[in-house]
Amino acid sequence: MVLVTDGMSSPFFYIIFSLMLSSVALSVAFYIAYANFGRQRHALTWAVAFLFGTLQFGTTLNAQSFPSESAYLLAENACAIMLITLSLRGHCQRTNCAFLPRNIWPYAGVVFLVAGLFTVIFPHAGLLQAVTPAYASITLALSSWIILAARDHTRASEWAAAISIALFGITQAVAAWLSVMQGAVHDETQLNAFLHFMFLTLPTGYITTSMLIILMMASDISEEMKEIAVRDQLTGLFNRRGFIELSEKAYATARRTNTPLSVIMTDIDRFKFINDKFGHAAGDVALQHFARLVSEDRRRNDVVARVGGEEFAILLPGVKPRDATALAEELCQKIGASPMALTSAGVSMTSSFGVATISKKDTSLDDMIRRADRALYRSKHAGRNQVDLESSQIVRAPDGSLRPAHST
Ligand code: GH3
Ligand code: MG
Ligand code: MG
Repeated sequence: MVLVTDGMSSPFFYIIFSLMLSSVALSVAFYIAYANFGRQRHALTWAVAFLFGTLQFGTTLNAQSFPSESAYLLAENACAIMLITLSLRGHCQRTNCAFLPRNIWPYAGVVFLVAGLFTVIFPHAGLLQAVTPAYASITLALSSWIILAARDHTRASEWAAAISIALFGITQAVAAWLSVMQGAVHDETQLNAFLHFMFLTLPTGYITTSMLIILMMASDISEEMKEIAVRDQLTGLFNRRGFIELSEKAYATARRTNTPLSVIMTDIDRFKFINDKFGHAAGDVALQHFARLVSEDRRRNDVVARVGGEEFAILLPGVKPRDATALAEELCQKIGASPMALTSAGVSMTSSFGVATISKKDTSLDDMIRRADRALYRSKHAGRNQVDLESSQIVRAPDGSLRPAHST
């Protein structure tokens, strides 16, 4: 029997032993991540993957207790293939990867059959020992690609994980190649070259990639928390905090590039009446209905937010006052014409709008928002269900048309 380690006299014994213990620790770490970080499926998959890692290294250390060399080789390959496949599966689950088939087990099965072929039917030491590193190099390359392809703006932790996984994949490919070089029967020199390279790169690759995957999961959670902090739970729109954050950025860009920026503030008319008549739960449904109406068909850069109880804001980068007013007019009509199914006859809502656009006199974003608020206030006082444009070129005339503004 060809053994990687023949007991405690071999330095490889200590490496494999520490990899086995590391696998236990990593499995526990991923299970804790699963239990505490919102029960993400991929964390559980990785916890199970490292259990197979533990089994694999345990098998290697106990090769002599197997009844035959073939049984040992098949068991070790089975554990390694499970570890490798589950690791890839975890990356697919984390990113909802649509590229790979949902069921990757038939492929893992084929890899196991190949290992079986070189063990039992057509014994070939070099090819057999190359199977799992070759399979690992492919799945590691795929995992790295899955991480990078998942989003437009890859985060630093994702870059770190993807790069380390890709490098680990390269070392596994080299290990596979060195193994094939051994030929059908173990050549002492070639086997040593393979083992030395493997044990030089495996512990670092194994531990580094795992640590960086844990870091990536932590940054997933921090990102999720940030998202929760800027979102309104009821409507899914941005909340006031999110609105201010994004508006500050848009305001700075508009100032720097000298491009237009408009804001629409809107407040549902007599909303208290809806709550009083139909109940608070119906009021919530009305807010969701309203949010849908104002947010559908918006451009990618527009920011739609619920900035108060029944008060909403729409920030429109690159939009001139005339177009912003036209949009507010359109929304005003759309809301009036879209009753909710609270009663069989439907319940209509109306809303009042105030529009403002960036001005050279503004010293900050607040100035612009304050002017939009003042315009909204005037819409309310003028009878509600209408649009008012502050401080600039056009307003709505009594006949409903847009005309040059009076000075306010
Ligand atoms: P106006 O036309 O002057 O704006 O009248 P209004 O009744 O809309 O104004 P007011 O500010 O008096 O009332 C706003 C109401 O919005 C009062 C509050 O109970 C209700 N509200 C605020 N947040 C929520 C919420 O999350 N859910 C529900 N159902 N109601 C809310
Ligand atoms: Mg109101
Ligand atoms: Mg209000």
